[in-house]
Amino acid sequence: MTVEPTEPDLARWAAHSRSSRGRRYSEPPAAPRGEHQRDRDRIVHSTAFRRLVYKTQVFVNHEGDLFRTRLTHSLEVAQVARSAARQLRLNEDLVEAIALAHDVGHTPFGHAGQDALHGCMAAFGGFEHNLQSLRVVDNLEQRYLGFDGLNLTFEAREGILKHCSRRNAARLLSSEPAGPAWRFVHDGQPTLEAQLVNLADEVAYCTHDIDDGLRSGLLELDPLLRLPLFAQASEFDRRGAAGSAPSASGLGNAGSNARADRRLLYQALRRLLSALIDDLIAQTRANLRAADPQDVEAVRRAPALVAFSAPMRADLDQLKGHLFHALYRHPQVVETTVAARSVVTDLFAAYTQRPLEMPADHRGAADLPRAVADYIAGMTDRFASREHQRLTGRQVFTHAGG
Ligand code: MG
Repeated sequence: MTVEPTEPDLARWAAHSRSSRGRRYSEPPAAPRGEHQRDRDRIVHSTAFRRLVYKTQVFVNHEGDLFRTRLTHSLEVAQVARSAARQLRLNEDLVEAIALAHDVGHTPFGHAGQDALHGCMAAFGGFEHNLQSLRVVDNLEQRYLGFDGLNLTFEAREGILKHCSRRNAARLLSSEPAGPAWRFVHDGQPTLEAQLVNLADEVAYCTHDIDDGLRSGLLELDPLLRLPLFAQASEFDRRGAAGSAPSASGLGNAGSNARADRRLLYQALRRLLSALIDDLIAQTRANLRAADPQDVEAVRRAPALVAFSAPMRADLDQLKGHLFHALYRHPQVVETTVAARSVVTDLFAAYTQRPLEMPADHRGAADLPRAVADYIAGMTDRFASREHQRLTGRQVFTHAGG
């Protein structure tokens, strides 16, 4: 006998386990675990999840031990999304599953790696990291006797496929007509849990990229302090900043005391995080009151309901614009980007010309370019660098491969 878990704490518009659209291959329930708890557990035990620890977020993995990696980024996204989910009475297990898996399709070397691989695959259907994340959990993880992939619920897969071009959606639908690509052709929304992770991703990276950017010395404080969102968060709090001069008016004026500066920065980042999450929760509550969806299916038919207020959206976009120009396009970041591109491009050429250089389960595939792309996409930064050196004799990253 199986006990169907119930979730009395969840709002009616949340993704309840009992209303799940299920898995591609039916399995007996895992009670007392809920279905989405099981999704989360499978992701944590996957190989692709473990590899995130050695994949670039913004800074190439070997540039410093304190910078975010894809793994710590994913954990921060899960934290932000879960704390908002609890307040909104959404399904925390589903939120956590989607957050932990949202970047498993990322190539080594961040967006530079993805752009390079997309270029290599231009004649063979392209490469897109959201689609690849779904491919990882649907096909590439091989741990179960009865099926490929992790056999996640529809709701987890729907959340993982955050974006998808119409062309790719049409291709996915040809093999799975009611699959997670359906909404990209018919303009539907995913669950509130998926919508929430999407914005939690933005909240997490904007906040932690400021931290990493300042720590690396690539970002400067003064231009940040001219942005309303960051300026507000860093205003000096007379009650909170013990050890700092009470006359100091904020982070930029903390003077020569580097330790106090650091604490003031963390305080500012905490406030920034809270301001974003509080705004997100308040606006989402208002949207839910107005739309009053009866269940998760009504959520899918409604416009996007998880959102920031319009002023916060504008402030956040301004902050993102600043990070884009000042950090992601910083000459030093661009320099590693150029190197990363050449590693990925050279690897793609080497493996397509000499498939025997790949492990047995990749080299015999009917679609060789796709098998090469899957193999490269799964690599960590340092493994890709090492393979590049082995196959070309050239060392692109001086500290890689240690
Ligand atoms: Mg992300």
